[in-house]
Amino acid sequence: MFNNLSEKLDKALHSLKGHGKINEVNVAETLKEVRRALLDADVNFKIAKQFTNSVKEKAIGQDVLTTLNPGQLMVKIVKDELTELMGGDTVGINLGGSPTVILMSGLQGSGKTTFSGKLANYLKNKKTKQVLLVGCDVYRPAAINQLQVVGEQIGVEVYAEVGNQNPVEISQNAIKHAKANGKNVVIIDTAGRLAVDEEMMTEISNIHKAVTPNETLFVVDSMTGQDAVNTAKAFNDVLNFDGVVLTKLDGDTRGGAALSIKSVVDKPIKFIGTGEKMDAIDVFHPNRMADRILGMGDVVSLVERAQEQYDEAEARKLQKKIAKNQFGFDDFLNQIQQIKKMGSMKDLVGMIPGAGKALKDVDIDDDAFKGIEAIIRSMTPEERSKPSVINASRKKRIAKGSGTSVQEVNQLMKQFDQMSKMMKMMQGGGGKRMMQMMRG
Ligand code: GDP
Repeated sequence: MFNNLSEKLDKALHSLKGHGKINEVNVAETLKEVRRALLDADVNFKIAKQFTNSVKEKAIGQDVLTTLNPGQLMVKIVKDELTELMGGDTVGINLGGSPTVILMSGLQGSGKTTFSGKLANYLKNKKTKQVLLVGCDVYRPAAINQLQVVGEQIGVEVYAEVGNQNPVEISQNAIKHAKANGKNVVIIDTAGRLAVDEEMMTEISNIHKAVTPNETLFVVDSMTGQDAVNTAKAFNDVLNFDGVVLTKLDGDTRGGAALSIKSVVDKPIKFIGTGEKMDAIDVFHPNRMADRILGMGDVVSLVERAQEQYDEAEARKLQKKIAKNQFGFDDFLNQIQQIKKMGSMKDLVGMIPGAGKALKDVDIDDDAFKGIEAIIRSMTPEERSKPSVINASRKKRIAKGSGTSVQEVNQLMKQFDQMSKMMKMMQGGGGKRMMQMMRG
């Protein structure tokens, strides 16, 4: 996410290191580079200029605080400004109304249907929400099909009316259907066009007037940069929407849309889409995003993701197994599945402070666990629960079955052994012992 921008900002801010104090001269060069980094990220020229002016005002004349050197101080000022630029505070969606009506708007291909599914899934997982998805694209039967596939995948009902060409009527009927069937959230996916045109605007405006949504979201592909901002403006003029959803932030996005949209339409970014799967949705937190842009990671989000997957009963069971020395390969496999559920590896690594920069040239893909999983799946149940029975001939068989080599099997067994020992030590009040071991 925003790799290029992160790198350039890092370089710009690095140049202040070693100076005792921020002054007109040394800050000018840094700010020139910051501005260039923003422009390269496709941030609007005026916004980039305002940004650096504001940073300059805050930076000049500041004495170096005891704990901060000029480089650090500048990073802090830039971080605060980036947070402000992206909206400052986190803003959630309005879930008022009975039912809550959420209207999706945006161009075709922006990711509306995918996001409608993600949001439905996100709200459904909150347990108290019974969601109804509504397909209003009367021009493309394929779009309704796509929504139905999504609905099936996440177990959410989809309302559509084959043959009805009137999206206003469909939306109104859908709300009636929701009321009659105990649904408390209605998400209306609308038809988009490839570019802004009057017909589309009139249609969405009519739906908007007819259903008076509690929340109107504008969905935009973050890869489109400045265009995203122009489209946002056009939709906002007609709909006065409540919030923005930035999709495809997992791609090679330069960052322009995320950084410019708030200034232009003065509406908060509420969610981001970070992948094609139904769980690739995140609430947008301007401060956390600023941290990520500046290579400081996003530990809070990482912990939240881990918590979402955390199952206390499972954890207790696991603890007992470790204590009894019964942690086997099946448990290991389970742990890998849990990690994978937290999101794509690239995304997770980006949340670890400094890791994004350190690993920027390493190709991290989600197949990283494939070899390990294949090896474990080639083991018999006995081998999985009692790894000590795995002798040389069994290793050969496992390697063959998993399409790997005996070396790879050995490596996994060694890692597994080390991990089991470490877990046992951490369990049995062995924190102290481990510290001693680490000190040598
Ligand atoms: P719509 O025409 O606005 O409904 O757009 P779709 O939901 O059909 O999305 C268009 C394409 O973008 C599809 O291939 C989606 O899988 C893809 N897509 C949507 N959101 C994301 C995202 O956050 N990340 C990535 N990588 N792809 C996405």
